[in-house]
Amino acid sequence: MKADVIIAASGASVRAGSDKLRFDLGGIPLLARTVSAFSSVPRVENIIVVARADSEEFVSSLAAYAGEKGYKTVTGAATRSESVLNGLKAASSEAVLVHDGARPYPTAALINAVIDSVERYSSGVPALPLNDSVRIAHRGALTGEFPRDSLLSVQTPQGYLREELLKAYAATPGKEFTDESARYAVIHPEGARVVPGEERNIKVTSYGDFAALNAKIGIGYDIHRLVPFGKLMLCGVEIASETGTLAHSDGDAAIHALIDALLSAAGEADIGTWFPDTDPRYDGIDSSILLTKTMAILAAKNLRPVSVSIIIRLERPKLKEYIPVMKVKLSSILGISADNIGVSAKTGEGLDSVGKGLAVAAEAAVLIN
Ligand code: MG
Repeated sequence: MKADVIIAASGASVRAGSDKLRFDLGGIPLLARTVSAFSSVPRVENIIVVARADSEEFVSSLAAYAGEKGYKTVTGAATRSESVLNGLKAASSEAVLVHDGARPYPTAALINAVIDSVERYSSGVPALPLNDSVRIAHRGALTGEFPRDSLLSVQTPQGYLREELLKAYAATPGKEFTDESARYAVIHPEGARVVPGEERNIKVTSYGDFAALNAKIGIGYDIHRLVPFGKLMLCGVEIASETGTLAHSDGDAAIHALIDALLSAAGEADIGTWFPDTDPRYDGIDSSILLTKTMAILAAKNLRPVSVSIIIRLERPKLKEYIPVMKVKLSSILGISADNIGVSAKTGEGLDSVGKGLAVAAEAAVLIN
């Protein structure tokens, strides 16, 4: 059975504050991700995007993300229901799938399961059980229980026989429903058939959703030779040690790994490019200053760290007692809570250069947005 997809992309995005369908997801607009989710499913024939009149040019520009599929832009209407009907009129396959433009992550398996359900039961609606308890509230108090097992959270794509969905519209003219399954139930009292939904298939709604989706990951690494003199600095804290680092700056391997992780997450060149060891300005410099400069490089791109995790590899001394101080020091430079900074210490078990006490190394992973 072939299916056409109607992507509802004409909403006003009021809750998100701006046009969420244009939101940048790893370099391409959110709506392009939604379109491409359907382009890889062989039984999908046409992708029909219902757009606001002022977005039609943008929506048409996403045709390449539909791959080999037919791709049409249809003008939306005042309500979601009427907009979907406009899309429905442009469809021609036996089945239609109605999908929210702001749901970029349905898998091919889910889309296929919905089409299979339309084939067998004339309809298919993905839904998930609720995780939270549901209560009836009245004037700020919980007054009654609701049987959670009888409730489902409904997703899209919702699949129907095209003719049946047209009939449901004809039977309910001008009536607004929050989704097609409610309209379908008017002429099919047995209701639309449930297909297991997917946790990942979220509808992007709030700024918080965007921030999480757009987080960038970075990793960094550094190693410094240890010598029987000099200072040992780690995470901006001086360590009482019989050996120190041999380096151009203060040799803080942990901060250097962290700087590289931050620069990497921001898509920037590495620490050696930004702060070359041939530059006399960085002779013996406190690495905390380099970290502060790195924060400014990120800030210029409106990026900030969210979460930081560091492993320091050193044979001796033990670093356990220094870790709380390190976290406070990094917290003050990074501008995030010490709870969002993890620092752990490992020895080299006498094995490699760290294990033989010849070097201190560090690895860092960061999330920024
Ligand atoms: Mg270094």
